[in-house]
Amino acid sequence: MPTIADSALLQMTGLALTAKESEQHFAALFNLSPNVVLLTRFDDGLICNANRHFESTFGWSMDECIGRTTLEIELWVDPRQRQTALERTFSTVEPASLESQWQARDGRTREGTLYTQKIELSDGHYLLSTFIDNTEHKRAQQALRASEEKFAKAFHSSPDAIIITEKATGRYLEVNDGFCRLTGYSASEVLGRTVFEFVIMADITQRIRLIQDVEEHGEVHNRELLGRGKNGDIITVDVSIDPLVLDDTDCLLITARDIGVLKRAQAQIQHLAYHDSLTNLPNRALLMDRLSQQISLLKRRNLRGALLFLDLDHFKHINDSLGHPVGDSVLKIITARLEVSVRLEDTVARLGGDEFVVLISGLEGTQAEVIEQVRTLADTLRGLLAEPMLLDGQRLQVTPSIGVALIPDHGSTPADLLKRADIALYRAKDSGRNATQMFHSTMQQAASDRLRMENDLRLALSRGEFSLSYQPQVDTRGNRIIGAEALLRWQHPSLGSLPPQHFIQVMEESGMILEVGNWILEEACRAGSQLLRKGMIDGQDFSLCVNISPRQFRQTDFVERVERCLRTCVLPNRMLKLEITEGIVIQNLEDTIAKMLELKQLGISFAMDDFGTGYSSLTYLKRLPVDALKIDQSFVRDATSDPNDAEIVRAIIAMAASLNLAIIAEGVEKQEQLDFLAQLDCHFYQGFLFSEPLPLERFEALLRGRVHP
Ligand code: C2E
Ligand code: MG
Ligand code: MG
Repeated sequence: MPTIADSALLQMTGLALTAKESEQHFAALFNLSPNVVLLTRFDDGLICNANRHFESTFGWSMDECIGRTTLEIELWVDPRQRQTALERTFSTVEPASLESQWQARDGRTREGTLYTQKIELSDGHYLLSTFIDNTEHKRAQQALRASEEKFAKAFHSSPDAIIITEKATGRYLEVNDGFCRLTGYSASEVLGRTVFEFVIMADITQRIRLIQDVEEHGEVHNRELLGRGKNGDIITVDVSIDPLVLDDTDCLLITARDIGVLKRAQAQIQHLAYHDSLTNLPNRALLMDRLSQQISLLKRRNLRGALLFLDLDHFKHINDSLGHPVGDSVLKIITARLEVSVRLEDTVARLGGDEFVVLISGLEGTQAEVIEQVRTLADTLRGLLAEPMLLDGQRLQVTPSIGVALIPDHGSTPADLLKRADIALYRAKDSGRNATQMFHSTMQQAASDRLRMENDLRLALSRGEFSLSYQPQVDTRGNRIIGAEALLRWQHPSLGSLPPQHFIQVMEESGMILEVGNWILEEACRAGSQLLRKGMIDGQDFSLCVNISPRQFRQTDFVERVERCLRTCVLPNRMLKLEITEGIVIQNLEDTIAKMLELKQLGISFAMDDFGTGYSSLTYLKRLPVDALKIDQSFVRDATSDPNDAEIVRAIIAMAASLNLAIIAEGVEKQEQLDFLAQLDCHFYQGFLFSEPLPLERFEALLRGRVHP
């Protein structure tokens, strides 16, 4: 609409054109008008006057446009609009209006409402045009429309549910498609009704708290809530609520996102993190978690619990010989058996490999009574697990060893309890497997001693703390030295010289025996070669005996190692005799025989050490290509006093004779023992009676003394 000034202008021009005074007023108003005003001659359309606004808005100075038509200065974006404006002017005495676009000198267009009126001035007829510039207003409107469209698009196409409600009444004002998808309600079902008429929020306490928080803080962000769809399904949603004012009404903008899938994925990840994938049993992390809960629970209720640490005996053999799929099946069967034999409130966990843990809680009674209960349970478990299983047509049997720690008697933290059950388990294995062992405080000391020893042993080789002693082997007939056994010695930095029984087992279990065993073999062969070069021993008639542990023997490249060692040390193969124990054969008889045969082909011989203490099974002894038996020193020691041991010695000697094996007695300390052996035609021996094991120089001295008496 024209401004007041414009109306005044129009009125004046229309009412009192004849007055000179009026014309002066007209000129003043013409220039003062806040709108663009243009005066053109009616007959030829030439511009006669333009106000300052025209100049500033359209970029033409007065001088440039006067005397030209609006068409000549290309003022009209669409020249047809000029024609329309003129036509309207003719048809009415009122100012005619037209929405039109004018174009500035630089090409920019302005939109506005054009008012035109024919007027009569003293010198003729004119057309007075007032252009009210609406460009900015139009632009703002367009922008608003675009933003509304954008919002509507975002509102409707959002994957989330978006709801606008009236804050005071809870009336639904707007819902989008996301809402309909999430809840199953259509927009028409809910619009106009209130949130209280639907039970979309499933949990009443959650709902009350949500409303309270909105009241208190005005907004709520990312609240996890349970919702209920139209069909009754429970949905988990993440909800945010923001205040919004629409048409002066306080409203709430609610967005809700279905996070069910996310929650399920999260739960699955959680499950995987706390369970063993093969058996689906709780893993170590979950066990530790439950254990710490149990510890405090038992403490509050003044009850006891027990931690049973189970390990399957020789499970590795099943994996190695029958393959991992069979091993896995065994573990699953064991899992099932364990699960049925404990109560629901107890936990069965798998720590990995063949290690299982059973956590028993809520045991009542005195310590002795509880120990009794746990023992009975452990024995039942052992019985159940040892039941044969049929797999792939094979009948398999596995036995477990079980270590037990009592809660809280044997520890107050999960780590302590597990460690102690493990120590007890270790004992159970040590005592011959398929057994249950209760933890006892004395075991702790043993366990930490062992740990310390393991650490010390790791450094011993590089620190040069190992050495070999040589114990002569003698033929009683002529008192001749026919060989020597290399025996490992460890000079511990603080404990002094330690006997091998203390540490060979530790090296065997930790695998250190492989590296150390290599060193022993090389060291012994070097010594043998040195003695031979010095002419102190007879290459045809001397055996250098080296003890080989089962683990060392099982190395796949053991044969090559021995061969290489003999070559580099320049020792004739036939001088080397390997002392093995029966422990070697229980692992894999065929492989043992094959390796022994290969080594025998090279000229190396074998002695079966500590004979009589192990399985002493004739079946495999017949198959093993050994050359000699060494009667264990325990029988030799008591043979002269204990008729039973005497009988054993006799039987071993007879057995060796019938298998055509040489025989040598170890641990001979007394003349009468030697006499007893000689009487049975056993002439080879090793023992303190002749000499204890000696360092190489002293052994050399001994040989020298005999060669040059
Ligand atoms: P072993 O192979 O049966 O060695 C004989 C053991 O009897 C040696 O004990 C030796 O010192 C001891 N001995 C010899 N004569 C007598 C005697 O008259 N009376 C008594 N009471 N003992 C006697 P040592 O050196 O303490 O070795 C013990 C065991 O440690 C060995 O038994 C062997 O099984 C193992 N061992 C020693 N050195 C090595 C080695 O280099 N490698 C491996 N793998 N094992 C070794
Ligand atoms: Mg030996
Ligand atoms: Mg022995």
